[in-house]
Amino acid sequence: EDLVEDDDTPVRWFRANLVRTTTNAVLAALAHLRRVDCVADIQKGTIYHDKYVPDLFGVHPREALVSLSIYQSGDVIIQDRASCFPAFILAPRPDKDKIIDACAAPGNKTTHLAAILGNSPESIIAFEKNPERAKTLHKMCEKAGALGCVRIQQGDFTQTEPSKYPDVTGLLVDPSCSGSGIFGRGFEENDTQEHTQERLKKLAGFQVAIMKHAMRFPNAKKIVYSTCSVHAQENEQVVVDLLLDSTVRAQGWRMCSRKDVIPAWPRRGLVEEFSALDDPQRCADGCIRTVPQEDGGIGFFAILEAASGWPMNSS
Ligand code: SAM
Repeated sequence: EDLVEDDDTPVRWFRANLVRTTTNAVLAALAHLRRVDCVADIQKGTIYHDKYVPDLFGVHPREALVSLSIYQSGDVIIQDRASCFPAFILAPRPDKDKIIDACAAPGNKTTHLAAILGNSPESIIAFEKNPERAKTLHKMCEKAGALGCVRIQQGDFTQTEPSKYPDVTGLLVDPSCSGSGIFGRGFEENDTQEHTQERLKKLAGFQVAIMKHAMRFPNAKKIVYSTCSVHAQENEQVVVDLLLDSTVRAQGWRMCSRKDVIPAWPRRGLVEEFSALDDPQRCADGCIRTVPQEDGGIGFFAILEAASGWPMNSS
């Protein structure tokens, strides 16, 4: 289905926090709103239940939400649609998977992971380098009721020793990026092209390094990489760099196929960026792109990679 319906329709997205409540209970609490079937029909007094992420809803931005008890209690969490994709794509299984969230604060994706994992105890290790942001992460997990599921580790994820985490089966890597998907260009208006390229190069170097570290976890089978950048340097090119790396190849990492990455979502990775790899179309199809206005949320990009042989959600 085309996304033109979303054009110029400002939407406030929020998800039912399945740690505390159910989708039906949220709908019951918002029963005064009329259900609509597509994003374009959202206006004041209506609610849209997302067709891609099951626990996600959209309302008009002027709809009273933060004053409602379901928001104050943490039963619903305001989170853009694109930001809900990574945890949903990782699709960890309750009581089976142990997940590292490598760059966790403020904790939107961590708490979403906890909901998908049924809040099962000690299922997530959430790393955050910045001490202040680690406090925010703690607060968010507490409000979401997820502290039993999440162990917060304040520190640099890249300094961890992967062999000490033999039970980790999957990782979510959402590193610092240019933010160009959120703030339009994500750069100062008077930035020179040279400075922009320099900054992107530096960010991409960090993003590749943190992903390489994630790929060293001995029993990790699936990694979701995401950014809120629209720049190919931070997205497809990071993936290409990784997949051309001899160590990464030897470890058996590859792109997941489209069927594991919200297949119905129409906007995929940029195929021309994958020309250095064997099957550019397959690689592009393993990625998702979203753009700020049309997709009813911030610009974002998420890809999925799996060690050959065991896509997590097929077993
Ligand atoms: N995943 C978060 C969410 O959805 O709420 C947003 C993460 S934000 C894009 C990136 C975060 O990674 C920042 O809080 C930053 O301080 C943290 N970070 C950057 N480098 C890190 C590292 N080496 N180890 C752990 N955290 C890091």
